[in-house]
Formats: sequence, C-alpha cells, structure tokens
Amino acid sequence: MRPVVDESICIGCGACYDVCPVEPKVMELREIKDKGMKSIIVNPEVCDFGAACIRVCPTGAFKLI
Ligand code: SF4
Repeated sequence: MRPVVDESICIGCGACYDVCPVEPKVMELREIKDKGMKSIIVNPEVCDFGAACIRVCPTGAFKLI
C-alpha cells in the first residue's frame, strides 16, 4: 500500500498536511506552475496508513492504494 494524491482534484487546502501525524510528513504543499497549490507525496516510506489524511480530504484526492 502507498499514499497517492490525484493531482487533478486536489485543491491544495492543506488539510492532509495538517493532520499527518508522522515526522517528516508524508506530503508537502507546493505551488505547481499553472495548477496552483497541490499536495505532493514526498516521504511515502514514513506513512503509518492511519488514513487521517483520507478522512479530512474534502475532494477525495488523497488515497491509499
Ligand atoms: S486534503 Fe485533499 S484536497 Fe486538500 S491538499 Fe490534501 S489531497 Fe489536496
């Protein structure tokens, strides 16, 4: 299993980042040219699969697959 973000529906709200309990965090918020803020997976290996990010994501962009 691994964390993924569907960039096409991520609105960059930062909710996933705020609730991510591990350090370093699994994701970062980055400004992507012509697309706005997006949650980008940067440390998938530290994910604890607690799914806090999935519960708070308002668009369903964050997934564990
Ligand atoms: S909570 Fe969902 S919509 Fe908000 S930044 Fe994270 S992946 Fe994107």
